Amino acid sequence: LGLLNDSEPVRRSLDLPRKVLVKDITLREGFGSGLFGIGVEEMTKIAEKLDEMNFPAIQIEFRGHSDDVKRNFKIIKEHVVKAKLDIINLCFSKDWKEILDAATEVGVDSVCYSLPCSELEKKNSLRSESEAFERIVEAVEYGRGIGLETHLHIMDAPRTDIAFIKKACRTAIDTKVDGVGISDTWGVASPAAWRYLVGEVKKVTLDKPFSIHCHNDFGQALANTLAGVEAGADNVDASINGYGERSGMPSLDEVVAALTMLYGMETGIKLDRMVELYRLFEELTGIPTATTKPLVGKYAFSYHYDSRFTAYHVDPLLILPFSPKVVGNEPTILFTRYSGPVVLEEKLRNLKLEVTTDRIPHLLERAKQQLLREKKPFLTDQDIKALVWQIS
Ligand SMILES: [Zn+2]
Repeated sequence: LGLLNDSEPVRRSLDLPRKVLVKDITLREGFGSGLFGIGVEEMTKIAEKLDEMNFPAIQIEFRGHSDDVKRNFKIIKEHVVKAKLDIINLCFSKDWKEILDAATEVGVDSVCYSLPCSELEKKNSLRSESEAFERIVEAVEYGRGIGLETHLHIMDAPRTDIAFIKKACRTAIDTKVDGVGISDTWGVASPAAWRYLVGEVKKVTLDKPFSIHCHNDFGQALANTLAGVEAGADNVDASINGYGERSGMPSLDEVVAALTMLYGMETGIKLDRMVELYRLFEELTGIPTATTKPLVGKYAFSYHYDSRFTAYHVDPLLILPFSPKVVGNEPTILFTRYSGPVVLEEKLRNLKLEVTTDRIPHLLERAKQQLLREKKPFLTDQDIKALVWQIS
């Protein structure tokens, strides 16, 4: 896309992995937003769609180990064909083993242990580093023992001692963990700091799958996710619309599109079905997607100046970054107070309304007056139809 993205000096500064696995965590972290209250039926439909789109892993909320939790998970599992189903486990909680036992009973594929060990946490929980290392060994061995793929995640990594993170990851790797990773749980890392941290930890984790989980408290979740990939992280978390605790996560469509189109990386995910996924999510949760949301927003590829329309018909790439079809979207043409006769005539053609050429200036004048009078950003199709009816 951009001429520079693929250039030798830029590529040389990166340590990109060969492939990136994007895990959808909407059905776990998304609940942390407190903004949607969907049930198992809706969760199943979302999981099914993600699976159809080739998301390799989907994280599902698995809180506690009651019959309800197990039954709900089983229903989702029955509808997912290819994707691995993952859960997180707080391995310092009282019933962490009971939760894992319940999870294996109903077919969970992998577990991501979340380990808090920042200075603040240590002070608060009075937990020593040696206790943490012992628990890592116990948790990895236990998970492997009951047949789960196991991953270790160090929570709040930007506020945790780097030497501890490295030692924790090494301990897990020596216990044959399947992957390690770090979380920016409170979204406090700058992209530069995060890239440095991933690179630093990777020095001891070498070619073990390395995952990152970035929060958006400073609006840097996507930047940090990409910065982590630039430093070699090959597993990343993302959610629909970025829903997650507080201001959430990176938005999964933006992660997949950036990796594919800006970095030329393979994710295997069907990007052209993103809009379809977002519309389904809107329908099931009742939460609308922002109309200007990049990639999947209704007006993400809109234009309204006459000059843009003319250029579009010479070559769409004169006014758009890429074909909206790539993400399953389409361009939208709007008639605004800044549009001229060219856009107006196109709107009339689209609506199959006949207005003779000599009437166009009059219609244009009326349309602009209405926009200014009603303080509207643009005229709807209904508005235009009504205007044409009035002047005819
Ligand atoms: Zn999180």
